[in-house]
Amino acid sequence: MDTAELKMQFMFALRSKGVTDTRVLMAMETIDRGFFVKGIFANRAYEDTPLPIACGQTISQPSVVALMSQALKVSPRDKVLEVGTGSGYQAAILSQLARRVYTIDRHPRLVREASTIFRRLDLNNITALTGDGSFGLPEQAPFDRIIVTAAAEDPPGPLLAQLKIGGIMVVPVGQSDAVQSLIRVTKTEEGLHYDELRPVRFVPLVEGIDKD
Ligand code: SAH
Repeated sequence: MDTAELKMQFMFALRSKGVTDTRVLMAMETIDRGFFVKGIFANRAYEDTPLPIACGQTISQPSVVALMSQALKVSPRDKVLEVGTGSGYQAAILSQLARRVYTIDRHPRLVREASTIFRRLDLNNITALTGDGSFGLPEQAPFDRIIVTAAAEDPPGPLLAQLKIGGIMVVPVGQSDAVQSLIRVTKTEEGLHYDELRPVRFVPLVEGIDKD
């Protein structure tokens, strides 16, 4: 099968898994996942499956990236924080939906490699930083939207604090070795409202910064 056919199947898989938001579908069509998968897995970039990346981490399944982006209800004026840059793919999708994207990872190497791809693709509204994302990014807070792409036992308090009133956070919650729940938290004047969206499986949110 040639690349055009693989990409058509890729878009079909997203629709059949419940991705209906046209802006999200357009972003998934525009940003080529092939740039974010390297080495022996490169030929599997258009499969709807998670794949290994450097530092023992994974690039998420495309339909999960799309469904999380859809659940986040991003508008073109939003400032978004992503915790867990990984390959940079989710941040690249968000860059098409939001005004500005900040993305943090605890592995400096992943941040360096993702930044190189962002530059190459001219995605100039993304800032990638090394840090422990469970503390958020106080110097840029508050955020309209926050997305966590590693599983926490509970939504981290500093992230809830850095969400605007009217803001939305999407986060996988649960033990790292079990099936987790994708949760959407909406912050209102009255407090926090929680929706449980779907079962997911993510690598764990780990404390501190790595050497690599
Ligand atoms: N969103 C990524 C996939 C994320 S994999 C993509 O589109 O490819 C989860 C990532 O979370 C890993 O890269 C891991 O290093 C990172 N991570 C785990 N704990 C973290 C923490 N406390 N702060 C920042 N990043 C963290």
